[in-house]
Amino acid sequence: MQFINLEAQYKEIKEKLDKEVLDVIAGGRYINGPNVSELEKRLAEYVGRKYCVTCGNGTDALSIVLMAWGIGKGDAVFVPDFTFFATAEVVAHCGATPVFVDIDINTFNIDAASLKDAVEKTVKEGKLTPKVVIPVDLFGQPADYDEVYAVAKQYGLKVLEDGAQGFGGTYKGRKACSLADASTTSFFPSKPLGCYGDGGAIFTDSEEEALLLRSIRVHGSNPNDKYDNVRIGLNSRLDTVQAAVLNCKMDVFDKELVTRQLAADCYSALLKGYVEIPEVKKDNTSSWAQYSIRLTSPEQRKEVVAKLKEQQIPTMIYYPCPLHLQTAFKSLGGQVGDFPKTELACNTILSLPMHPYLNDRMVATICNHLKKSL
Ligand SMILES: *Cc1c(COP(=O)(O)O)cnc(C)c1O
Repeated sequence: MQFINLEAQYKEIKEKLDKEVLDVIAGGRYINGPNVSELEKRLAEYVGRKYCVTCGNGTDALSIVLMAWGIGKGDAVFVPDFTFFATAEVVAHCGATPVFVDIDINTFNIDAASLKDAVEKTVKEGKLTPKVVIPVDLFGQPADYDEVYAVAKQYGLKVLEDGAQGFGGTYKGRKACSLADASTTSFFPSKPLGCYGDGGAIFTDSEEEALLLRSIRVHGSNPNDKYDNVRIGLNSRLDTVQAAVLNCKMDVFDKELVTRQLAADCYSALLKGYVEIPEVKKDNTSSWAQYSIRLTSPEQRKEVVAKLKEQQIPTMIYYPCPLHLQTAFKSLGGQVGDFPKTELACNTILSLPMHPYLNDRMVATICNHLKKSL
């Protein structure tokens, strides 16, 4: 059994995909080919945004937005303590300081009350200027943007949606990657919409901002003269082959969201009452980047992982270490006990196999072995 089955998906779309990729190779427009603009148009329409700017990966997507917003030294950027490292790494990269915020243990997303506390503490300390909050749509479920915006508006923060795992999910009827001032996603192969290498995208409704993002993406170039560099940018393009792959994957994406949901429903029905099952809020849908349960202790989790491994059932721990305890952020002074909900999640969470080609029989097998191991 595989944790994420990309082979099954490839079989589904092979005929068209092979042809499209070979067409790109034969056509010779490896960078900025027509597939890229076709994809950007399609993704913007899909999420309900005016502009989509593709780029090299989901980490660069976040960096490019922070650069466009002029974030730098002395600025505080609020990020959930429980996320992939990149969400906070990009903040440090542009010279600003990440300020960590605890999560809602039921959804694993940023907790608005903790955000308010963190902003107020930062203001009181007076060393950093609160500028941005980056909610993450963790495991596929959008964060609670109404609650985040209530705090953001009060303190004049911009909101950047890290939708690397969220693409395909919805919040109160609106699609992920349309929920904040700017939004980003990642096309890393294991994400809900993944390519066959690295890729990412940024979404915005502002034409001026889209132009700025496009300029930063290619060495800060002047849109009318590429050898006139008007600002410091970077080199972060999505290549044409990856755009061709993503266009083919978009053909089956909605169908895959349905089968992911069926797999999640099946897990939840079979596991309810045995372990803590993930909560999707009433007005949300998840793209189920991960199906993550919680156990009662690290010891119980270790036991479950070992027993499932004996049955060739792979599991993953996303994430074993909170950001405030990462070695790279040691200088920020984080201590064990600072963020109790995040630490509880890190100690007890376990992600089970999840992909669109997982059927009820496979889910039942996983759940049976899991229950036996408790
Ligand atoms: C994967 C991921 C990223 C980074 O995306 P890459 O394409 O790997 O650079 C950023 N944030 C979150 C939450 C992610 O899961």
